[in-house]
Amino acid sequence: MPLVSVGSADDIFSGFDYSRDRLIDFMNRDFEGLTAVLWKTGDSPFIKDIGCQCKLGAYHKLSIEQRLGLKDIPASIYIGDYYKCLPCSSLSILMEMESGCEEFVVEFGERLGQTYKIVKFKRGLRYLKSFDYPKSILTKLLNDRNYTKCEPGASKLISAQFYGADGFTNKMMVNMYTESILMQNGLQHMIPYIATAFICADDSYYLVRDDKKLRLDDLDKSGDVFSFETTFSILAQVISFFHVMEPYQISFPFPTSDDISFSKSIFPKEFGHRDCRIASNISVCINISEDCGITAIGKSDNTTRVFHHTEADARSIRCTPFTPKVESLTFDFTNCVTRGGCCVINKAYVYRLPNRKNMLQTMRQLGAFMYPSSLGLYSFLVLLMSNECFYNSVKSYKQLDALWCSLFLELDRKEIECALISHDNVNIFKLLRSKYLRCDAVKHGWELIKLINERP
Ligand SMILES: [Zn+2]
Repeated sequence: MPLVSVGSADDIFSGFDYSRDRLIDFMNRDFEGLTAVLWKTGDSPFIKDIGCQCKLGAYHKLSIEQRLGLKDIPASIYIGDYYKCLPCSSLSILMEMESGCEEFVVEFGERLGQTYKIVKFKRGLRYLKSFDYPKSILTKLLNDRNYTKCEPGASKLISAQFYGADGFTNKMMVNMYTESILMQNGLQHMIPYIATAFICADDSYYLVRDDKKLRLDDLDKSGDVFSFETTFSILAQVISFFHVMEPYQISFPFPTSDDISFSKSIFPKEFGHRDCRIASNISVCINISEDCGITAIGKSDNTTRVFHHTEADARSIRCTPFTPKVESLTFDFTNCVTRGGCCVINKAYVYRLPNRKNMLQTMRQLGAFMYPSSLGLYSFLVLLMSNECFYNSVKSYKQLDALWCSLFLELDRKEIECALISHDNVNIFKLLRSKYLRCDAVKHGWELIKLINERP
């Protein structure tokens, strides 16, 4: 059981950290072991206690008669007059549950002043299971040389195990694993911080730090543009995120404007990784949804893929297997972000999205095979550009516009820009479908960010 002890907030949060560390250790070392314990036994890294009567303070709303009607309470673990699960006991030290409030500010310890909120997830079965069907699809894909040139990471999955989870479990695992990778690069502020997850009675919850996020429209602007620093910093952080996460094939079914937010308070004064440090006045936060997927790479290079599984999705993938559309020739892209300042031609492998109705299902189940880094980056760039002010900003700064232009063939870009200018609600899939997208978008984008960052 996690080491939550009654006492200080620090002890309670140390208990949450211990649970998260155990999950990451399992994901790096022993997925099979994880499936044996997660949500099943007292040894699960996160607590499931269906016997809880407190239900995050809901007990307080019951009448005396209703309370007297409560039966079958394990006598050895009475706390007060009714049984509280361990998360309810811990949280009742940190907040006043009786008030019915789902938010609290930490009042003592290292996290003094931080706000946390309890987020309830829709009800459903919680599970993590091994599935074989993605493997058979992968085997077919790897016979296509064009595909392997576009998505070299896919071949690393040849000996991988694929684990499907329900949305709640999947989001928890992808979020916490991503955070562990980002932390190695000092970029952990780029995703929401889930302190812990638990199942109390019939409901599943996350405890999430509330970092008071802003939307793009809330950021300072002059006239109808953001400053160069803000625009560059946002682009650089999004590209940096996908660059760091590229080996882990994090996949995002097409994001919405709720999936990216900004903060002026929680950010390092500079960010970046490896050989590049970029000054920043704002931080970008990318939401990890229940439909994201990730490849965990263990210490001995064993790979495991975790994704959001549903029976309906699995059936539809079996009926209509994913077929990649990768052009066998490289295409010429004009790149005007260069050290010398003149435009050059870059050759790049390209792919196009399959034109299928159930694209969301395909992405959920087969994110690892769907050009995850490149497509994720394109999706977030188009999402950002669908904001009028951000679009005007990128178009008004020559080097940032050149970066954007270098990611598309000219005809495709003009079509995308027309749609971005004329529509309020942009459908990212419709916009990117049938366009030629660069397989190397992330690597290419990161090189350009480094060059722009070097400018005097
Ligand atoms: Zn409880």
